[in-house]
Amino acid sequence: MIDLHVHSVYSDGTNTPAELVALAGERGLSALALTDHDTVAGIGPFLEAAAGSGVEAVPGIEISAECERGTMHILGYFIDPRCPVLLEKMEKVRAGREIRNQEILKKLNKLGYILMWSDVVRQAGRDVVGRPHFADALVARGHVKSRKAAFDLLLAKGRPAYVERYRFSAADCIALIRASGGISVLAHPATIYLPDDQLKALVKELKACGLGGIEAYYAEHHPENIARFKGWAEEFGLVCTGGTDYHGDNTPDLKLGSGFGQLRVPDEALVQLKAAPRG
Ligand code: AMP
Ligand code: ZN
Ligand code: FE
Ligand code: FE
Repeated sequence: MIDLHVHSVYSDGTNTPAELVALAGERGLSALALTDHDTVAGIGPFLEAAAGSGVEAVPGIEISAECERGTMHILGYFIDPRCPVLLEKMEKVRAGREIRNQEILKKLNKLGYILMWSDVVRQAGRDVVGRPHFADALVARGHVKSRKAAFDLLLAKGRPAYVERYRFSAADCIALIRASGGISVLAHPATIYLPDDQLKALVKELKACGLGGIEAYYAEHHPENIARFKGWAEEFGLVCTGGTDYHGDNTPDLKLGSGFGQLRVPDEALVQLKAAPRG
């Protein structure tokens, strides 16, 4: 069993990279990829923890791309975490987050929710502050019952405290991942929220930009979605990858490796990912 989509405390997960490696070992996983949002800060500790552990560690990242309707995330695997261009661009993205975060805070306060920046920071990751941390802060303050309620009521796209942040185009994300020596994969394609034909056309377009794979196996994908994305992978020559999007205690029903119980990412996904052209 392998899991190629996992978050740590460096973004919005609750486990340290070392804890993730240990958990992967306990659950009998042979390989694990760390894919924190907009940061590679956890990769060093992750690789260190995995050395000699029997769990193969794949360095990764998850970058948010511009997307009109839904959410588009591009995963990068086997990126060089010391690549100066990557570090510089991710710094820029995190600076954009800081600006956006202050706007969210202002909006929430204007809407009558008493919340301070220190409340958010208390919930936050080591390198990235995101909307999930606002949600947790709202829960901690007793304004809403759950993280989900915070998103549904306030923080999700289209809700009153939503604020856009600086993002790269999908093509730029793919180019950046290639420049860092990695291979890019379109994460959870269903969240892009496009009708079938338009989504397929987009995948084709991204492949022409250098996309290397598609995340067909995903905890929240129904079997028909997995089949659909596998079909496209075959048609366009993309690697089929997969993972759980584990966030630790933040996703309590979801297990590392098996998701909600049904997920099995074939070991072959990693074999193909390694064999795919990089850079
Ligand atoms: P950010 O990158 O700070 O805008 O936060 C995005 C993250 O928030 C995503 O990666 C998800 O983990 C989480 N998220 C986004 N939309 C929702 C939602 N509707 N419900 C729960 N979590 C969400
Ligand atoms: Zn996340
Ligand atoms: Fe994602
Ligand atoms: Fe993720």
